[in-house]
Order: sequence, then C-alpha cells, then structure tokens
Amino acid sequence: MSIKSIRDLSLRGKRLFLRVDFNVPLDEHRKVSDNTRIRAALPTLEFAQQQGARVILASHLGRPKGQANARYSLKPVAEELAKQLQQDVPFANDCLGSEAEAVTARLQNGQACLLENLRFHKEEEANDAGFSRQLAGLCDVYVNDAFGTAHRAHASTVGMIPFCREAAAGFLMQKELEYLGKLLENPEMPFVAVLGGAKVSDKIEVIQNLIGRVDALLIGGAMAYTFLLAQGLAVGKSLVERDKVNLAHDLMKQAADRKVQFLLPADHVIATKVDAAAETKIVNIADTPPEWMGLDIGPKTIELYREVLKSARTVFWNGPMGVFEMAPFAAGTVAVARALGECRGITVVGGGDSVAAVNQSGVADQITHISTGGGASLEFLSGIKLPGVAALEGK
Ligand code: AMP
Repeated sequence: MSIKSIRDLSLRGKRLFLRVDFNVPLDEHRKVSDNTRIRAALPTLEFAQQQGARVILASHLGRPKGQANARYSLKPVAEELAKQLQQDVPFANDCLGSEAEAVTARLQNGQACLLENLRFHKEEEANDAGFSRQLAGLCDVYVNDAFGTAHRAHASTVGMIPFCREAAAGFLMQKELEYLGKLLENPEMPFVAVLGGAKVSDKIEVIQNLIGRVDALLIGGAMAYTFLLAQGLAVGKSLVERDKVNLAHDLMKQAADRKVQFLLPADHVIATKVDAAAETKIVNIADTPPEWMGLDIGPKTIELYREVLKSARTVFWNGPMGVFEMAPFAAGTVAVARALGECRGITVVGGGDSVAAVNQSGVADQITHISTGGGASLEFLSGIKLPGVAALEGK
C-alpha cells in the first residue's frame, strides 16, 4: 500500500506535527555532543518551513521511563536546532496540555517549535488512546520522519495517526524505506550480508529472512562463536549462547540447502580477558586454548571477507566484527568498513556500532546509504512490517 510523502500535503498555515528522531547523545554539560540526527531531520523540517507550515517538532530522548527527568530534557536539542536553523526555536516544557497549546498557538507560518520529551509520559510507550488524541489535537497534519522508532508502536508513531486528518512520511523516512526496500526487492546480485555484534538471538529473524535472498552471509563478532560451537569447534571462553546452538546448526543447514555461502571466522585475535592492555595472540579457531576468548576476527578471515565483498553488487552490514571499542580488537571491524568503502556496488550500513566504525574509518562518504535506525533496519530486513510505516499506509 502506498504512503504519502510530505510533498503531497498542502502545508501553508497548517499546524504540522513532525515526529523526528532527536534521540541524540548529550555531554556532561548537557550539550548535544553529536548532532547527526538533528542534521538528518533538516531537509524535511526546512521543506515544511519553506511551505509555510507551523511546525511542531516532537521526539523522545533516552529512557526516562514515563517520568519527567531533567537529564533527558530536549531543551539542549532546541538550542542546538536554533543554531542550525539560525532562528529562535520556542520550547514547550511539556509535550501536551496548556504549555504545549500556548507555545504551538503562538507559532507563525514557517516557524518551528520543539516539544519536551514524549517519553516523560508513560502513555507514549503504552500507545494510550487518550494521550494519542491529545497529541493529535495539537495539529492539522502529521508527518513521521523518525525511521529509528518506526519499529515501535507508540502514541507518537502509531496511536495518534487515526486522529489526524492527513499523515505522510518525511524525506528521511522515505529514503530509508527506499534503500532498505531495494535490498529485499530485486537487489543486484551478488548480494552479501555482513552480520556481527554480540548475540545471535538478536539476529535470528534477519538471518532467516536474508538466507533466501543473499549469495553470502559473512558472520563476525561474538555471535560467530555460537555457530562455530555448533560446528564442533573449540571456542575457549568466547561468548556463546548455548541455548542457541541447535538453532545455529539449523540456520547453517538452511544456508547449505539453498547454496548460500555461510562464512565464519577461520582465525581470530584472542586474549584471556576483555581488556585493551591484555596479551593477545592470533590463532586458527580450532587452536583456541581453553582459557582464551576470541575478541576480533583474524587476518586470514579479513582477507577472505574482503575478497567476497570485492565482487559484491549489493552489501548490507550490521554489527561489529569484534570488541572494536578497544584498539587491539578493532582491526576486523575497520577492515570491513574499508572493504565496504571500496565496494563498487550498493552498500547499506545500519546499527550504531557499524555506523560509528564507518565514520571512524573515514569511508562514510563512500557508503550508498547509512541507516539512522539500527533496530528498525534489522526489523525491516527481517520482513516484519514496521508499525510506524503500516500506520501511514493508505492514510
Ligand atoms: P550488538 O549490539 O549486538 O551489535 O553488539 C555490539 C557489541 O558486541 C559491541 O559492544 C562489541 O564490543 C561486542 N562484541 C563484538 N564482538 C565481540 C566478541 N568477540 N566478544 C565480546 N563482545 C563482542
């Protein structure tokens, strides 16, 4: 079913509720320390302003668990946004009630204000109908540009939409759906997915959905050890999910039946503890001593993965290849980031750690699409319809 674009709406003089993802990191002085997400929202926001909308920006920040908490206030975001737009951005100390009504009522055409953290009310995450209706009462039209929360059925992403006359997707949301959609519908082959990170359990659905679509799956990070254990290999003290070993076995069988390459590390960087100062060794997986743990993929694995990535026409990457936060265990993740940078095909990266690795490796501008939603992009690629997207359909 089709989704309207913000371009399809008539916005002049209208009160536009714009759900954005301003869940940004703050430093110890409560200043925005990384404004990537704010900048990502600017194309939609500036378009709305140019069209003469009265823009009511709304977002969550952190996990205040349904209570007002100064630590999670969006006030510093209003200040950062004012800097970016070079204009005053009025701030409402509550996302609804008299405070929100007063601030939004004073908006001029083309002006934007920001509401306080939606999650200061427990009704937001509970997708409460009364709360949804109140939010909808603030606006004439609704636009969702918060792809990063589209996998959550909350009041501001789902509940309020039936109470709004018109609803559409913003440019960032549209771009995410377009690039991630291409991965599932007719990707150029060979299509390679690189998956890493801590747990197999977080990636089961995405592996299952991708097995039928990719030519190769490259596995790294701690999650590789559950698969290696399922193959009967020695993994020492590496992180494994013992209750997922049978499932890992089954996933590898599905891949073999479909003639999908399922690649696991051949060698790794090991240490006796997760510590940047620990002694390290590089060994083949089968030679892992009992008291040691794997903390990064090794040079042979890097070479193997790089070779597969070189000829790929489509690549999706989520999750680090090791404990990349510590320099001695970062080489595998950096090498994958660089290999994506060199790849001539379509490259899509999702998930905070992989995105950070792409930025740190200086290859961000060589990546086709950097997703702003880690969890949302994984759910999308698992074949699950995102509630925030479904709610916009047919509206
Ligand atoms: P995830 O949130 O599932 O993408 O996992 C990311 C985390 O996995 C990062 O903090 C990494 O440090 C961690 N990680 C990756 N590889 C390993 C490993 N071999 N052993 C322990 N932790 C790992």
